[in-house]
Amino acid sequence: MRRTRLRQVSPRRAASTDGPLWSTLTRTPFQPSAVAGVQATRPPLRQVSEKRAAENRQRAALLARLRAERPSCEARFAFADVTCCGPLDGHEPLTRARGGSVLDPDNIRMICRAHHDYIHEHPALATALGWLRPSGGGAR
Ligand SMILES: [Zn+2]
Repeated sequence: MRRTRLRQVSPRRAASTDGPLWSTLTRTPFQPSAVAGVQATRPPLRQVSEKRAAENRQRAALLARLRAERPSCEARFAFADVTCCGPLDGHEPLTRARGGSVLDPDNIRMICRAHHDYIHEHPALATALGWLRPSGGGAR
């Protein structure tokens, strides 16, 4: 059952406050349908589609495998002035937004969070060095 802070108001204090809306809220958990003029809420929208959820599960399994196969940051020598830090992320040189697959191991580099951030903060340099690819399938 959903609890509200309003339920914690003492009965005496609640009784001292006039009005049907207030007494409704102090006696029962908040239910929008109980308040005149407010429609009952719908269930929240799904955050991701079934298809994307399935893809995310496949990707999580793939990244777990790749972390075991490639346990060191692959960008540590490409950007030597950046110190490796954080967990290994899967980085796609050809991003999903540019048509890349997030499930293709050949399109995934295992890099630390610091290098991942650096690459996306310096797209021109990262593109020149092959760590980001423009859409259209340029060879890496
Ligand atoms: Zn790194």
